[in-house]
Amino acid sequence: MSADKFERIDRLPFEKVFKDPVHDYVHVRHKIILELIDTKEFQRLRRIKQLGTAQFTFHGAEHSRFSHSLGVYEITRKIVDMFERNYPKEWDLSMRLVTLCAALLHDLGHGPFSHTFEKIFDTDHEAFTTDIILTEGTEIHEVLSRVSPDFPNQVASVITKEHKNPQVVQLISSQIDADRMDYLQRDAFFTGATYGAFDLSRILRVIRPYDKGIAFQYQGMHAVEDYVVSRFQMYMQVYFHPASRGMEVTLDRLLYRAKQLYQNGELYPAFPLLEPFFKEDYTLDDYLRLDDGVIQTAINLWTTSDDAYLSELSTMFLNRRPFKSVAYQKGQDEPIIEKLQDIVEELNYDKEIFTRINSSSDLPYDYKLKSKTPIHLMYGDGTLVELSEASPIVRSLSGNLHGDHRLFVPKEFLEGTKENQEVSMFQEYYDEFQRYIKNDRINDPSKKQ
Ligand code: ZN
Repeated sequence: MSADKFERIDRLPFEKVFKDPVHDYVHVRHKIILELIDTKEFQRLRRIKQLGTAQFTFHGAEHSRFSHSLGVYEITRKIVDMFERNYPKEWDLSMRLVTLCAALLHDLGHGPFSHTFEKIFDTDHEAFTTDIILTEGTEIHEVLSRVSPDFPNQVASVITKEHKNPQVVQLISSQIDADRMDYLQRDAFFTGATYGAFDLSRILRVIRPYDKGIAFQYQGMHAVEDYVVSRFQMYMQVYFHPASRGMEVTLDRLLYRAKQLYQNGELYPAFPLLEPFFKEDYTLDDYLRLDDGVIQTAINLWTTSDDAYLSELSTMFLNRRPFKSVAYQKGQDEPIIEKLQDIVEELNYDKEIFTRINSSSDLPYDYKLKSKTPIHLMYGDGTLVELSEASPIVRSLSGNLHGDHRLFVPKEFLEGTKENQEVSMFQEYYDEFQRYIKNDRINDPSKKQ
């Protein structure tokens, strides 16, 4: 049976809705979508927070990958419904089901604190997403295979951008796709950072299919421009926040230390759920057992570790005491950064564990890179103009990386301790460290040349 035939017999007798704070309701009228949501692999996304360590800066940001995935599905459904109504010639009706399934499942392979976890254990959430879809035996694969034996492959090919229909690929993954539109709105809502908001309903009115992909009617330019600017501001103000990155570094060093101890046969208390990853010999099932709660339980246990580094880092993470940072200019401040790292070593601390460089960078928009599909506006006569050509605001953000480079160290190195507080293990060296910080421009961006 072809996917469009399947789609016609797959209708639920009554539309099912999920109440959502961002989109009001998420509407489901296909049985298969409901069955995918009910799989154990999809339900696992309830136990993984969307923003990882950003919750330690923006305490409202506790929303899950589950709610984001439903949101991406809902935005895609609205777009597909509108394409079916208004562009029946330009939009292939048989693409409905594969597009909705790919939207729903695009983040299926995310694990707990993905970005940090992936760095330490060399895992890849995108590879896990396709694995879960393609591996016989997962509930997701079983549900998708009911459409047709090849349907899991089709859904996976949208997510890996190999699907032959550029409209479908661009709806799920491009510089203005349903994924980004949902996470910007959702993250703005839950962090309370209102500058992430933009006029989504206007964008959903002016988006349109054409033979090479997706474009936006020219009269919607300011809504699209506002989306690009909102995204830029969310990166600068929320995603790259130094305190969230300080917690990320704390977690990163903690997992690094735990792995190191395990490999030396010295990790106590043991933590069986993470052992396959310490051994770098894991299966998909091992991965699917992980979630935020598992990682937090391990960290809780390790606060009692005999290893001073592991117990200190675990206590820091559990009680929200992030590494603190100094920003520096790449290409000119490296000597002082190395000196700062050497001081940590001279104090007899392992600089691999107690110092970490963390760089953030984002390209708000680009139209020259081959890997990036430009955003196109379409005039009434069907001719296209690339967004930065029409919008001076977008032009000023185009092609430039934004972000910073920071050296992170435990707080005591940078701030010392107050009188009457417990004496810091760094106290006697605090002044020496401060001398380097205070005498150099790196702690004060206004002194940068
Ligand atoms: Zn996503």
